[in-house]
Amino acid sequence: MTNKETVQAGNDIIHAISTNVSDVSATETKQVVQNLVDTMREVDLVGMAAPQIGENVRVFVTEIRRTKYRQVEPDELRVFVNPTVVSVSEGTAEDYEGCGSVAEGGLFGLVKRPAEITVEGYNEAGEKFTCVANGLLARVIQHELDHLDGTLFIEKVTDFKKIMSRNEYLKMKSKNQK
Ligand SMILES: [Zn+2]
Repeated sequence: MTNKETVQAGNDIIHAISTNVSDVSATETKQVVQNLVDTMREVDLVGMAAPQIGENVRVFVTEIRRTKYRQVEPDELRVFVNPTVVSVSEGTAEDYEGCGSVAEGGLFGLVKRPAEITVEGYNEAGEKFTCVANGLLARVIQHELDHLDGTLFIEKVTDFKKIMSRNEYLKMKSKNQK
């Protein structure tokens, strides 16, 4: 188990365009995946991309777990190696996002994205798959894809007046659930 420090905005690695891994089933690729999974769980994120642990390769993982503040439909661990976008919906959805690489996950803002996305990629076994996602998973996948192109959610925030600190965001979430 290896937890990596989450690379922060301002570090060149976060803003660079990552490259495809040359061998999807190589030991080094599996190591990146394992480090991503360990770190994502340790810092309690629902997705994490390789640049966030210092690797400029096109790999990310998602795992939507239910927490006190996140009463959502859980989604199993998914591994995306060399992902490509097949299509996105015309319909959009707007919701709050945060990021482990932006103020250590301490800042939340509204981002509008396509509501549904279809992505192709390779899993941890090097097998090709297609994933059709909507809801929170579609949002997380698009947020992680952006990381592979050096883009952070703060560059896409729709209303800067609605930016929130982590504490205020969690307060809002718990109020909404009462
Ligand atoms: Zn992020």
